[in-house]
Amino acid sequence: MFLYDIRGLTKAYDGRKVLDIPSLGIETGKIHALLGPNGAGKTTFLDILGFLQQPDTGRITYNSRPVNFSPSGLKTLRREIVLVDQHPILFTSSVFKNIEFGLSIRRFSKKDREKIIESVLDMVGMRGFMYSQAPTLSGGETQRVAIARALAVNPKVLLCDEPTSNVDIENQSAIINILKDINEQAGITIIFTSHDVRHVASLAHTRMYLHHGQLTDAAIENIFSALLISEGKNKKRYLIQDKISLFSHTLQTGKKTIVIDPGKIDFRNPETKPMKENCFIGKVKQVSEDLDQIRIVVDIGIWITVLVSKTKYLRNKPMVGEPAAIHIHPEAIKII
Ligand code: ATP
Repeated sequence: MFLYDIRGLTKAYDGRKVLDIPSLGIETGKIHALLGPNGAGKTTFLDILGFLQQPDTGRITYNSRPVNFSPSGLKTLRREIVLVDQHPILFTSSVFKNIEFGLSIRRFSKKDREKIIESVLDMVGMRGFMYSQAPTLSGGETQRVAIARALAVNPKVLLCDEPTSNVDIENQSAIINILKDINEQAGITIIFTSHDVRHVASLAHTRMYLHHGQLTDAAIENIFSALLISEGKNKKRYLIQDKISLFSHTLQTGKKTIVIDPGKIDFRNPETKPMKENCFIGKVKQVSEDLDQIRIVVDIGIWITVLVSKTKYLRNKPMVGEPAAIHIHPEAIKII
């Protein structure tokens, strides 16, 4: 079942459209990643999903009910959905008082407040910091307390804007585990934004890619500005970052953002000659696991991400630091 059902949603700032989502369903009980480059509209979309901003047009159905953006209509919804900001702001008081605030407003008894605060701090591994002053906490600890504060009000949906972007590696993996536990144990739907594909791979059940405010089926990786440098009958040649020239059968004109599907790139034997069109030799920079696939980043003058099945990976086993040859299939290339 869809928790959010979105139709014809648009949002513009100063006459500039920053979101344009014709249709989208977001499933309940899952962890959803919202990905995209800077300025793609992720935070704006998250604010709209948290009903903190109203779209200019469109219809949102939440939990099978049409959303009414009037203050009274939003009152109940805002209790169910909590947004943890990229830079959470805590009051200049203790961690306890920070979490207690929302509970006092909701008129929980003192005993219940204490019980809830202890349990949510346990969930984020911060019980020992209960009486610490919030301004003394590190970035990672602040993020964890902000998640605990959000959990204290028992939300159905947790929206997290880049939960791992301002924290050290240790806190990054702690936060990932916390979000996983929250989803598994409490069944809370989580929607988070991120630039880190590794975190997305280990956490998300589904991914939504935003590019210039539109949902694309292409991955966040391999998005480049390109210059059309020659035009044949059925073929165009694009130059990426003045370094790489790519042939594409796509005949769209006027636009110059190229997206290369990481799943439609093959590895070749670097010693086999002659190399065909759209074949490049480079060096392997990163290898990591992504669900049941392997993500390999190859430097061919630009960094290209390749996604291959484990079976395919085992055939060639490209290792970090080794040379690698890749072939970008023409159908992997999209001009958007
Ligand atoms: P980032 O990854 O850098 O956080 P984002 O994908 O979250 O970016 P948004 O913050 O949603 O993107 O911004 C989308 C676009 O809307 C950007 O071009 C931004 O400059 C613009 N924008 C966001 N908020 C406002 C605002 N309050 N007034 C005017 N323009 C805005």
